[in-house]
Amino acid sequence: MSATAANTFDIVILGGGSGGYACALRAAELGLSVALVEKGKLGGTCLHMGCIPTKALLHAAEVADTAREGQQFGVKTTFESVDMSGVNAYKDGVVGRLYKGLQGLVKSKSIEYVEGEGRLVAKNVIEVAGRRLTGKNIVLATGSYAKSLPGLDITGRIMTSEQALFLDFVPARVVVLGGGVIGVEFASVFKSFGSEVTIIEALPRLVAAEDEAISKQLERSFRKRKINFKTGVKFSGVTQTGDVVNVKLESGDTIEADLLLVAVGRGPVTTGLGYEEAGVTIDRGFVLTNEHLQTNVEGIYAVGDIVPGLQLAHRGFAQGIFVAEQIAGLNPPVIDEMGIPRVTYCDPEIASIGYTEAQAKDKFGEIETYDYNLGGNGKSQILQTQGFIKLVRQKDGPVVGVHMIGARMGEQVGEAQLIYNWEALPSDVAQLIHAHPTQNEALGEAHLALAGKPLHAHG
Ligand SMILES: Cc1cc2nc3c(=O)[nH]c(=O)nc-3n(C[C@H](O)[C@H](O)[C@H](O)COP(=O)(O)OP(=O)(O)OC[C@H]3O[C@@H](n4cnc5c(N)ncnc54)[C@H](O)[C@@H]3O)c2cc1C
Repeated sequence: MSATAANTFDIVILGGGSGGYACALRAAELGLSVALVEKGKLGGTCLHMGCIPTKALLHAAEVADTAREGQQFGVKTTFESVDMSGVNAYKDGVVGRLYKGLQGLVKSKSIEYVEGEGRLVAKNVIEVAGRRLTGKNIVLATGSYAKSLPGLDITGRIMTSEQALFLDFVPARVVVLGGGVIGVEFASVFKSFGSEVTIIEALPRLVAAEDEAISKQLERSFRKRKINFKTGVKFSGVTQTGDVVNVKLESGDTIEADLLLVAVGRGPVTTGLGYEEAGVTIDRGFVLTNEHLQTNVEGIYAVGDIVPGLQLAHRGFAQGIFVAEQIAGLNPPVIDEMGIPRVTYCDPEIASIGYTEAQAKDKFGEIETYDYNLGGNGKSQILQTQGFIKLVRQKDGPVVGVHMIGARMGEQVGEAQLIYNWEALPSDVAQLIHAHPTQNEALGEAHLALAGKPLHAHG
């Protein structure tokens, strides 16, 4: 093979995270030649710094709580302590096995995996360490980084999730700056590990992207768990002396802690990579695309966290697959952003799909809602969890939103997304039989009630 042929591909993908590697795998399956460029570790944020390690921490946190709460179930257990070296070994083991599996998968598909930092140097060329990879199509998938605030340096005991994932101690007092998904997940872990936790959130409520009723329930549950939070309050600065941080708020309050976790969102990784020079339209750092994920430059696509919208791994997977299929000429259906399930894995878990009540009112005008309290659900009682499932439907129409909170509710999002994406009527779901006693049954019962034939539903 000539040097030119060896460096020419149907697709060259920049970034081997969820979006990039999913695109590579699907393209290879479809018989396209692919080069995948990654400067760090294949698997990206999700596998190494995001979804997987955080959920391992959350599981360890659940085990700690189970040890504490045995008495509730008549089982004599005592909670001794959290050994962070053991927790990290468990977490790293999970990540390591998945990483090995993913590396094997990419190898087995004859994808040209190129290690190194790449740059778009022409509209169809990515350059990596002097090697020029030419693509009939280019896919930008460079992901995101943990943001901070102006003047807030990430150093010492001031960390983002990236450093907090590798702590070798449990801090006695933690301030979490940001009450969004990442903030509440870490707050939940720290509390279960034994830290005193305070969340600072500038917006009026925690998890502000969720339905308001979900935020209220989470706040009730966090209060019960003695996780402190201050909403509608702005951070004004922090000082660090040795291992102690003093967090100042605009209200004039100061909170002393052993760690400040900055969880104020994630910004797109798009600077200095040649995107703008190639003519790609960038808006506040994000790469703009049409619904087919094509940028304004012909032959250049973008997927994952650099595209405005939900920053979720499964969105990245879906977009990567979409682009591969689009390039292969399969004409895949466009992705409905509202049809992407969202799960927040704090305790209690939050899972949702579709429109919140407020969004649905704006979009559809007349709507109906129903809240099914988990108090009426046998399995939730067995687990001793509280929460609800809230349904939002268009008046006399399909279900357009499902919002759930309670232990393990993330596992219910699969059926919820079928309901939303298949535009089911409450009566369609009501006739499907849900197994007893499961938490899934609560989803069935909520639809029975909304269809006008409630079973175990009060009020
Ligand atoms: C703490 C945390 C928890 C999360 N939990 C969840 C969760 O539970 N569920 C969920 O769905 N999502 C979760 N996410 C979000 C999820 O991780 C991201 O949405 C997902 O990783 C985005 O995929 P991506 O491919 O766009 O980018 P990334 O995964 O960030 O991958 C981009 C890749 O590109 C590489 N790269 C960048 N620039 C270059 C370059 N110039 N040359 C070569 N390579 C380059 C990077 O090294 C990286 O590997 C979490 C994120 C965080 C931070």
